[in-house]
Amino acid sequence: MIKVTNLSHYYNKDLALENINLEIKSGEFIAIIGESGSGKSTLLSVLSTLLKPSSGDIIYENINYNDIKNIDDFRKNNIGFIFQFHYLINYLSVKENINLANEKASKDEIFDLLKLLGIENLINKYPNEISGGQRQRVAIARALINNPKIIFADEPTGNLDSKNSLNVFELFKTFANTGTTIIVATHDKNLAQLANKIYEVKDGKIE
Ligand code: ADP
Ligand code: ADP
Repeated sequence: MIKVTNLSHYYNKDLALENINLEIKSGEFIAIIGESGSGKSTLLSVLSTLLKPSSGDIIYENINYNDIKNIDDFRKNNIGFIFQFHYLINYLSVKENINLANEKASKDEIFDLLKLLGIENLINKYPNEISGGQRQRVAIARALINNPKIIFADEPTGNLDSKNSLNVFELFKTFANTGTTIIVATHDKNLAQLANKIYEVKDGKIE
């Protein structure tokens, strides 16, 4: 699904990724682990089109990232993002926050997705009326509403307790089993065990 060749990235002169080669298959659940500063976030940003690498190629289903004309359309049609901080809008309800990602999604569709995540009772609540674990599940719903082929998650459990963290990874596993590709960066080696494949980044290289 994604083929990465000779990928390197520098921030000014500082090397953050060095000659990464990697192939990701459709439906894989991949964990990228490594210490703080090792390059996980940079790798995820590059793979998810958020950052243009200094050199190398990324081919996504025959499309070279360098040839993408409309990056917004590309992201909307293919990619879901989940971050450490949920970035929900406080003055919008759960339903309205999800509609930000897909204005055409009906209340029924949103309800069904929330049900899958076990939070359908929160559809009309506001972010400050629900718990941290629940907010992150809303952020996951927002990432899923466009039926993305790939989900990129950067430290999605960084703000959650261990119970909610496990819950998020178990959800990822469920989605991977239905064919969604999941790529998640985490410093938590135990959670990473739930993925099908683990890549360790060390000093900008994959071990
Ligand atoms: P991780 O996600 O594993 O913590 P990062 O990808 O964030 O690692 O960082 C890799 C390296 O790149 C680190 O040395 C970090 O300081 C550096 N770096 C990350 N982002 C920037 C940036 N925007 N500008 C300059 N250096 C950066
Ligand atoms: P979680 O395990 O999801 O982090 P918490 O222990 O934070 O849950 O919260 C437990 C319950 O308390 C949740 O069902 C949530 O609805 C409620 N709750 C948490 N934070 C708030 C809040 N700021 N306002 C209202 N209810 C809250």
